[in-house]
Amino acid sequence: MANLIDGKKISAEVKEKVRLETASLVEKHGIQPGLAVVIVGNDPASRVYVNNKKKACEAVGFRSWEYALPEDTTQAELLELVETLNAEKNVNGILVQLPVPAQIDDKAIINAISPAKDVDAFHPENVGQIMIGDYKFLPCTPAGVMELIDSTGIEVSGKKCVVIGRSNIVGKPMAMLLLHRSGTVTICHSRTVDLPSVTKEADILVAAVGKANFVTGDMVKEGAVVIDVGMNRLENGKLCGDVNFAEVEPKASWITPVPGGVGPMTIAMLMRNTLTAAKSQNGIQD
Ligand code: NAP
Repeated sequence: MANLIDGKKISAEVKEKVRLETASLVEKHGIQPGLAVVIVGNDPASRVYVNNKKKACEAVGFRSWEYALPEDTTQAELLELVETLNAEKNVNGILVQLPVPAQIDDKAIINAISPAKDVDAFHPENVGQIMIGDYKFLPCTPAGVMELIDSTGIEVSGKKCVVIGRSNIVGKPMAMLLLHRSGTVTICHSRTVDLPSVTKEADILVAAVGKANFVTGDMVKEGAVVIDVGMNRLENGKLCGDVNFAEVEPKASWITPVPGGVGPMTIAMLMRNTLTAAKSQNGIQD
């Protein structure tokens, strides 16, 4: 039977640290970190994420601003807002909730956000910094996964790590972070031949596929650490991961649940990145 990795508890610890550091930043320097969140259109999932981010900002003592733009917002209008926020001194972090409606090119928006305020770490400059291992921000979900792995006490160095998924938001940066820790990393995707033969080798398996119950028991090595990034909404409204928990849990040594695993970590890491941004923009060292 696997040990459960409690993302709720670990994320609460991260947020508590951020809250304490924020209180000290306000007291010593009169600086209150601020996050601007932009949402375009009426996607219900995006609305839930944005509400959760605002709540987290309140809990750690940040200022937050929400810009809710209509579905028919043009790219030029969104770019203009991003430019305004780039120039606004009190705004330390800018987050444009993805996906944006089809008339807007998300790459153009990501590229327009000042790298210093890019708390999602999606801007090519920040992506490049991550690649060379000299970064200010890490993308929130993979950074959260690293915290969860660290909480197990298991060393990544020398381990066989398999990441299923190669998205720019999760899979690729995830693989890079595991590589920075000297894991031997394999990235799998939809063209991978005989996926189970690869995943069965993994000491650490990260699933970021976007398909409910995709990773079955026969795909996992006995004693593996299994991290489930997937957040899939079933027809009955329930949230379900990419890992078939009932089958995999008995084989794994450690496993994240869904919900209550990676999800809460993503927001906690966003709070940490915003604090880092506020300190860095004000020339405050750790
Ligand atoms: P994505 O952009 O759709 O990428 C999915 C990846 O899975 C792609 O690289 C795809 O391969 C691969 N894939 C699809 N079918 C496969 C198959 N049969 N075999 C092997 N690989 C396959 O998704 P994403 O943005 O990375 O997100 C992945 C999941 O994580 C989603 O459920 C998302 O909701 C969740 N997520 C959770 C959080 C969180 O905070 N917990 C944050 C972000 C995302 P190709 O590249 O070849 O198409």
